[in-house]
Amino acid sequence: MDFLPIFLDIKAQSCLVVGGGEIAARKVSLLQRAQANITVISPELGATLTKEYENCRIAYAKKSFDETDLLDYSLVIAATDNSEVNILISTLAKANHIPVNVVDHPELCSFIMPSIIDRSPVVIAVSTGGASPVLARLIRTKLEALIPAGYGHLAAFARSFRDKVKAKITTDSGRRHFWENSLQGHIAERVFSGDMTSAEKLMNEMLDNNQNTPKGEVYLVGAGPGDPDLLTFKALRLMQQADIVVYDRLVSEGVLDLTRRDAERIYVGKERSSHALRQEEINELLAKLAKQGKRVVRLKGGDPFIFGRGGEEIDTLAQQGVSFQVVPGITAASGCASYAGIPLTHRDYAQSVTFVTGHLKNDTTNLNWQQLAQKNQTVVFYMGLQGLSMIIEQLIKHGVASSMPVALVQQGTTELQRVFTGTLDNIVEIVEKEKPKPPTLIIIGEVVELQARLAWYKAPEKATYGATSAP
Ligand code: SAH
Repeated sequence: MDFLPIFLDIKAQSCLVVGGGEIAARKVSLLQRAQANITVISPELGATLTKEYENCRIAYAKKSFDETDLLDYSLVIAATDNSEVNILISTLAKANHIPVNVVDHPELCSFIMPSIIDRSPVVIAVSTGGASPVLARLIRTKLEALIPAGYGHLAAFARSFRDKVKAKITTDSGRRHFWENSLQGHIAERVFSGDMTSAEKLMNEMLDNNQNTPKGEVYLVGAGPGDPDLLTFKALRLMQQADIVVYDRLVSEGVLDLTRRDAERIYVGKERSSHALRQEEINELLAKLAKQGKRVVRLKGGDPFIFGRGGEEIDTLAQQGVSFQVVPGITAASGCASYAGIPLTHRDYAQSVTFVTGHLKNDTTNLNWQQLAQKNQTVVFYMGLQGLSMIIEQLIKHGVASSMPVALVQQGTTELQRVFTGTLDNIVEIVEKEKPKPPTLIIIGEVVELQARLAWYKAPEKATYGATSAP
């Protein structure tokens, strides 16, 4: 180890920054977050530091650095582009035993500045010992994804219970177990979701009983349209904590692979024709598992609240007093449109977008065709492939030009994505010829014309065919 990682308390300590540009400003900003008293020495100040000086947040000496400037500082940072000055500052500081950092010159530093994740009071520092600050930042980004923004609240929450826990649980190992149980799982999730009242209640209950009877909970999680990279941080975190994952057909393999390895997986189907479990049975299953104390992740394709019957599932839970959370996902319309290069709205073509179900069961009367045929909008049909001819017939009947562009996106955002474009006139013919595989999404509107220019997504090599455009 070339450097010893430590966290310095520099509250109200005098710190010197030499240099007035934007790099110096970033260092000043960090020192400010740690509540230091900062002096800047530089012949000139850039825009950011000028503002800091005008607002009396730093002291400023308008001059070039010389050796008389190194007074009794607790810490010095050199952020100048003059190598002689940098060397002078480094030599003087080291001789006076003042910790010194020269930006981008690890050889002149007695300390280096790590890349940090600030969830105060939780702070995580990453360093490559100056070898590659960019790599440190990349590692930081990975950690950011794993550590919820609410960790700061969790640490503060734990602090508020420390004395109480110490008084109640007298052995070291007992306390350790208690904290391990409370800082992950359902109490932590309550803190992250901002429900401090019930987090405190649960914590007090756990302390009073000093027992760890787990409380079950259901997380209704949007798995997005297919590409695992489109999951949210929160979805991933909950998937990693699940005891049981209940999923259906639209959830991609890649997403499922990211659930906790030891979690039990229950497939509840939902092919168009053969439902593995009826909706009521799924609702009851979720409630039953949670009541057994399990943490259940109910994974649904796209967004659970868009044609996902998510509302019905949590309604059953609410009625039975089972606690739950809902995590939004990227819905198929967003995912497919982005990956196909079709902006759903556009100042020149479409001022609104409507998501409609095309699952019409031979009955078209429950859709407002008059409204769907209006100009200057984009209409997206979910579950529309079976009823495509009927949809087109109705739109034309209600006044849409038969030359209106249509896109049909197969398995959007996955490596099997294919995009077929045509018009109301010929899309049925294209579909009959190309036989797209489900799931498919239908996008109707002038914005589809942009696809020819804006398509950017190329399915990875191993796919047998890539994104294509039919004429
Ligand atoms: N809750 C989901 C929608 C469920 S309805 C969401 O928000 O996306 C199922 C329909 O969604 C399918 O029939 C299809 O029209 C559409 N769909 C879902 N994933 C898709 C994908 N990757 N590509 C194309 N269409 C998709």
